[in-house]
Amino acid sequence: MIIDCHGHYTTTPPGVGEWRDAQKSAVEADPAFVGEKGSIRVADDEIRDSLEGAQLKLQSERGADLTIFSPRASWMAHHVGNEHTSKYWSQHQNELIKRVCDLYPTNFAPVCQLPQSPGVAIDSSVAELERCVEGMGFIGCNVNPDPSGGHWNGPPLWDRYWWPLWEKMCELDVPAMIHVSASCNDNLFTTGSHYLGADTTAYMQALSSGFMNDFENLRWIIPHGGGAVPYHWGRFKGMAQDKGWDFAGLLDHIWFDTCVYHQRGIDLLLDVVPTANVVFASEMVGAVRGIDPDTGHYYDDTKVYIDNSSLDAASKQLVFEDNTRRVFPRLSLPQGVQ
Ligand SMILES: [Zn+2]
Repeated sequence: MIIDCHGHYTTTPPGVGEWRDAQKSAVEADPAFVGEKGSIRVADDEIRDSLEGAQLKLQSERGADLTIFSPRASWMAHHVGNEHTSKYWSQHQNELIKRVCDLYPTNFAPVCQLPQSPGVAIDSSVAELERCVEGMGFIGCNVNPDPSGGHWNGPPLWDRYWWPLWEKMCELDVPAMIHVSASCNDNLFTTGSHYLGADTTAYMQALSSGFMNDFENLRWIIPHGGGAVPYHWGRFKGMAQDKGWDFAGLLDHIWFDTCVYHQRGIDLLLDVVPTANVVFASEMVGAVRGIDPDTGHYYDDTKVYIDNSSLDAASKQLVFEDNTRRVFPRLSLPQGVQ
């Protein structure tokens, strides 16, 4: 079985964006705007139409069986609005993912976004995680390490601020993909420097603090191939050696996905990072949608790169399925997808 652990609902029907645009206009006019959750009017057929020509078509064409599916990452935009508007928006987005997974239970498994308002206690995120996992069968969450949207002026991931969320994740036995959202800082391009910088930053925060050792069961996926981490493996290993950080022990908690869009990048990832710590992912339909003229393949058809890599069959099995099942144990529970 081939499990793609990184897919977002980037093709939502128009009613979703319209609801969010109205909410954004309201908070722009009045930053203290609370509003109400209301409803997003989207028909099941619209959901089907939005997926069948896109994620589902590509899933089938490219030979993946199941996508672990979450709300569009760049739309989380935790820097927009306040704790009330973020809560309602997150709830709607997660309920939409639940509908997708109910419509296509063998194709998708649900992962949630969290409200994560800057400057506000993490409690509402803990509550939303619990609601999604226990009430709706979600199997993981996306955690934004920089809810400010590119200013990095909140507490780092090792800070006690985050601990109630890490504790709840351990209790529920769900992992997080550490994934930023849109940048509102013009110095950072959202799906380029912001995403890859955040991946590297999250890893560095975990390595330099060693805080994950306090949470035996805490599991993170660092997306986009781990940002700069695999390429600079020796730098991180060497710094850890100089400073007494637990470089090897961190691999009990961290996995890198395969959202790297060229063969040599994937080859480096697979060569450098232990195979037990790599999980298959494509992030389609996502940031890069074209075809590489040098190869004739879609850049984000990452299965081709794994297939063409020098991994043996047993190692490919780990990357395509077994590692992901270890990271997402709820995938095998009855409310998940078998
Ligand atoms: Zn993503």
